[in-house]
Amino acid sequence: MTIIGGGPVGLFAAGAAGELGAVCQVIESRFDLGGMMLAIYPDKDVYNFPGVQVIKGRDLVSDLIHKATTLGMATRLGEYVTELTKGSKDTVIVKTNKSEYLSSTVLIASGLKAYLSPLSDSVQIENWNGYGIFENWPKPEAIKGRKVAVIPGTHIDIEYFENIDTANSDFIWLTGEATEAVEKTVKSLETKGEIICKPWKIKQIIGHKTPQYLILQNKESGEERSIDIDAVISLVEPQPRQTVFSNFGIETVGGQIKVDSRMQTSFKRIYAVGDIAYYPGKIKLLSTGIYEARIAVKNALKII
Ligand SMILES: Cc1cc2nc3c(=O)[nH]c(=O)nc-3n(C[C@H](O)[C@H](O)[C@H](O)COP(=O)(O)OP(=O)(O)OC[C@H]3O[C@@H](n4cnc5c(N)ncnc54)[C@H](O)[C@@H]3O)c2cc1C
Repeated sequence: MTIIGGGPVGLFAAGAAGELGAVCQVIESRFDLGGMMLAIYPDKDVYNFPGVQVIKGRDLVSDLIHKATTLGMATRLGEYVTELTKGSKDTVIVKTNKSEYLSSTVLIASGLKAYLSPLSDSVQIENWNGYGIFENWPKPEAIKGRKVAVIPGTHIDIEYFENIDTANSDFIWLTGEATEAVEKTVKSLETKGEIICKPWKIKQIIGHKTPQYLILQNKESGEERSIDIDAVISLVEPQPRQTVFSNFGIETVGGQIKVDSRMQTSFKRIYAVGDIAYYPGKIKLLSTGIYEARIAVKNALKII
């Protein structure tokens, strides 16, 4: 089973597929799993998740990733699905901006938007295990003792740095302009961090299993330099883009995908769940999405 979208509903579906013994991969356009919950409200309290009174978005995402990974979920991060077509003999061809996969069944859990990562073309990590590239502030323990390259985006979250032990990590700040504000903030954080700014830009993030070094290129002279790292935090806003599923020949209603009571779309072997799925009475909530995921996974696996 291929799941398009590593938001909370896609992750829940991956866990359900693993429980039922399916081989499952999740394709996510960001380098972080967790969808809207991690991109928009990681520190907000989430209500309505069955069996949990209240939980922070970030913690719920961690639990969902842990469960799905334990049950065998494979991930393809930084990949954007561009096309779905019928393959030969009971298969669907899933095309992305980087590769092509043959799948027995596909579950679309894409939410209403894909978040395209600005790092998408730079990452070249062999057998990457999904660890070490963050597009949000990670839990402090995830970067403790590491050499971290930070691309700050519009602001640096000082509160975050007040709560972590910066003495135990090395930081490199890759900013567009070395504005006084950035310099002052970095200084006030008392990090050992080096600030690298324009005209240097990231050319590639290279590694084996995890990021190991950055290749930077001077855009004016063409000169390159490499820096050892073992984590990257990119806070540059990913570009939202709507995937137009009607272009794939799937029936849609007002931008959402029409599904039947088994969550199957108009295209055999392709199911849709979560915010992207539409049926009369649909409510866009995580709590409804996870029930839809359970229904879809069970029905999809019946026809394989
Ligand atoms: C501020 C706020 C608070 C909320 N609070 C609650 C709450 O307390 N309780 C509750 O039940 N619900 C809540 N919700 C709603 C809940 O967040 C959504 O219903 C839920 O995130 C939907 O999950 P999803 O997995 O369907 O979509 P998303 O979270 O949007 O995830 C979809 C993922 O798919 C990826 N993707 C999209 N297209 C592609 C493509 N073509 N290729 C590869 N990847 C792709 C996207 O990058 C994204 O990561 C809240 C929503 C907001 C905005």
